[in-house]
Amino acid sequence: MEVPYVNIALQYKGLEHEILPVVKEVLKSGSYILGKELNRFEHRIAGFCRTRYAIGVANGTDALRLSLHALNIGRDDEVITAPNSFIASAGAIAAVGAKPVFVDVGEDYNINSELIENAINERTNYRGRRTGSLGDVGCFSTHPLKTLHTAGDGGFITTDSQEIYERIIKLRNHGLKNREESEFFGYNSRLDEIHAAILNTQLEYVEIWNKQRRDIALRYSSELSPIVDTPEEKSYEESSYHTFVIQAKNRDSLRLHLSNMGIETKIHYPIPIHLQQAAKYLGYRSGAFPVAERQSSQILSLPVYPELTSKQIEKVIEGVTSFYK
Ligand SMILES: *Cc1c(COP(=O)(O)O)cnc(C)c1O
Repeated sequence: MEVPYVNIALQYKGLEHEILPVVKEVLKSGSYILGKELNRFEHRIAGFCRTRYAIGVANGTDALRLSLHALNIGRDDEVITAPNSFIASAGAIAAVGAKPVFVDVGEDYNINSELIENAINERTNYRGRRTGSLGDVGCFSTHPLKTLHTAGDGGFITTDSQEIYERIIKLRNHGLKNREESEFFGYNSRLDEIHAAILNTQLEYVEIWNKQRRDIALRYSSELSPIVDTPEEKSYEESSYHTFVIQAKNRDSLRLHLSNMGIETKIHYPIPIHLQQAAKYLGYRSGAFPVAERQSSQILSLPVYPELTSKQIEKVIEGVTSFYK
């Protein structure tokens, strides 16, 4: 029995009878960009995130890039971010001409708010609020590997500000305020109708999927916390466990042991952003962010998705447990 890290095709199979008809409807309509599926998705996802507005864009990196641009962040600006993220977090900052400034993370993997002047919070379902409603804007990717996902690239931005909303609506479409008139140079970064239709179908399931992910995470935590470091949830947080990240001694040997048993794992991420070649010009050295660097050598992401069977979950637990015996 194999335990792949993700199984997107299996999830699609379960939803095929719903997804194929909506995709066919879009194809038959002849309206492929900025149509009614996107409009519907934007209203629904704003409701889900409990924000006034949402804007679909081409991908998660563009969600960051357009948001930074809309907030007038560019040359001569510095943007504080964490070194233990996907490369796009810093890449989007550099793409608008600003300078990424890294601050070390805490034991909970989030940026350490005590190390920055204005405490920043990027936690999930924080004190009854949803991710996306915490700052001026929320940026989301719907890449196939994310919980709510498109059949290709996609993303969206949430905001409560009418001003920011109106600016991003134009920014994603060449600064056009109507078909003929452009107010400022912008981007081509729209979320296609086919993807919006697929997201509209998936939105019905996302709460169930989050619950199923949480159930698996709680099972992993209760069985594995005596052996390895498992994620901790504060009483006012509710994670949707897009990843289940443990910290383990002899991580690389554990990973090999699991792989030999047919259990696939990932590392998010093995190289902190400040040590990537792309970030060399920023002048950071190894040792600059000791917590993030230590974690990058000990973290391991275990498979966590609704399609996992009970037997597969048991096998993962057995895999980790047997390594330390
Ligand atoms: C997925 C992800 C991105 C990139 O999103 P794309 O849609 O692939 O551009 C950026 N930052 C983080 C933290 C992510 O997880």
